[in-house]
Amino acid sequence: MTDHDVDLFVIGAGSGGVRAARIAANHGARVMIAEEFRVGGTCVIRGCVPKKLLVYASRFSAEFEDAAGYGWTVPETKFHWPTLITNKDREIARLEAAYIATLERYKVDLVKSRAILEDAHTVRLLSSGARVRAETILIATGGAPYHGAQIAGLEYVISSNEAFHLKQLPKRILIQGGGYIAVEFAGIFAGLGSQVTLVYRGDNILRGFDDDVREHLRKEMEQRGIKIITRQTVAAVEKVDHGYDVELSDNEQVMADLVMFATGRKPNIHGLGLEAVGVKLGVMGGIAVDEYSRTSVPNIYAVGDVTNRINLTPVAIREGHAFADTVFGGKPTAVDHTNVPTAVFSEPELGVIGLTETQAREQFSIVDVYKTSFRPMKATLAGRNTRCFMKLLVDGKTDRVVGCHIVGADAGELIQIVGVAIRMGATKADFDATMAVHPTAAEELVTMREKAMSYGRAAAE
Ligand code: NDP
Repeated sequence: MTDHDVDLFVIGAGSGGVRAARIAANHGARVMIAEEFRVGGTCVIRGCVPKKLLVYASRFSAEFEDAAGYGWTVPETKFHWPTLITNKDREIARLEAAYIATLERYKVDLVKSRAILEDAHTVRLLSSGARVRAETILIATGGAPYHGAQIAGLEYVISSNEAFHLKQLPKRILIQGGGYIAVEFAGIFAGLGSQVTLVYRGDNILRGFDDDVREHLRKEMEQRGIKIITRQTVAAVEKVDHGYDVELSDNEQVMADLVMFATGRKPNIHGLGLEAVGVKLGVMGGIAVDEYSRTSVPNIYAVGDVTNRINLTPVAIREGHAFADTVFGGKPTAVDHTNVPTAVFSEPELGVIGLTETQAREQFSIVDVYKTSFRPMKATLAGRNTRCFMKLLVDGKTDRVVGCHIVGADAGELIQIVGVAIRMGATKADFDATMAVHPTAAEELVTMREKAMSYGRAAAE
């Protein structure tokens, strides 16, 4: 017997928390998990999953257009937003129920309450006021949209959270931001028929991604009718008769029926009691942790977006699993945060793993660049003006492929597989020796022979 009610108390039933709870319980721990909103967290309830369903919905418009070149006569099409939202909500409810069933199956005690830390071993449940003593505590509270500094009319601005529950599809939407969420929702709304204006403060969208990729995607988005305004921010939003009058930093006015900010997310740490307990924050504002996700308080751990390491669902899941194996499975496991593949479900899609050209040049003395841009076969008969882009970055000394960037249909699916090869240390010669699958877009990955650019060879020779 211990003087603790549970071995593990998890705060937050999102991707990271649920995985940690389940694995810890499987290792024999008595686990309680608290969730103040809905089980499933950002990814399942108002992130990746509903977003991808909306992405699927948005892509039918182009499919209907493309069908004509293949001999189909498509009668006039009509899109009904409420049907999409109702069906999406039903699917999300099903997934939430599946998450709850999993917790029950593993005998994890789920409490629907906000939980706050009172001391290093005590959590208070706000719903009942009850106190729970725990040997180990895991904070997995995720993140929340952040709208930046106060501006006039900020109260009219929605985030992606609300975008999933709109009563109707806006005719005109202005989205501020140039990151994942901004470009994904720009594609969703444009595909569904809205007029989209994207306002981004920097030179080009998707800062941090490879420059060629950013350029290519921007062109493709503009070709699909999305207006991209760079080097501007939203200065004020005024409600007018039919929508909103949005004033940009250069005084330009844009009229919109809806204004959405996708200006980043902040770790959910407010009011958790971290300071009182002595849990320290890191430079990026998330909870500081070591490679085993342990905080500055030895029995308190944190995983997922609340730590602001790499804010992606599979990373949170891996961190939660590694935590449970480390603390309850007798198998110390650190998560490798390098070479994490990622996809942006923009239109067209983007799949990336490894270094950008700039990063590769910083890290390696010789860098060979291979790239190709081509019209995908499907676009030929469809008459669609679009191009696929692929790029490989190679460490010239070892021949290892250190970066792969894809813009085009199914880039997310492709990059998952390329990720395996790159993790295994595949060289450009391995790519070249792999037989092509024909006719596919992916075959270009193994048939790029001409260097587009080579850095550092002359100096090395
Ligand atoms: P990001 O950090 O990706 O992008 C935020 C954007 O907002 C950037 O373009 C940033 O500009 C801009 N910005 C930040 N602050 C301001 C401000 N005060 N005024 C104007 N613009 C501002 O965040 P998102 O909200 O798009 O997404 C959050 C995270 O969620 C992502 O980083 C990603 O980790 C995750 N995510 C992953 C997805 C996926 O895997 N497909 C999908 C959606 C989200 P600047 O570049 O200049 O800093």
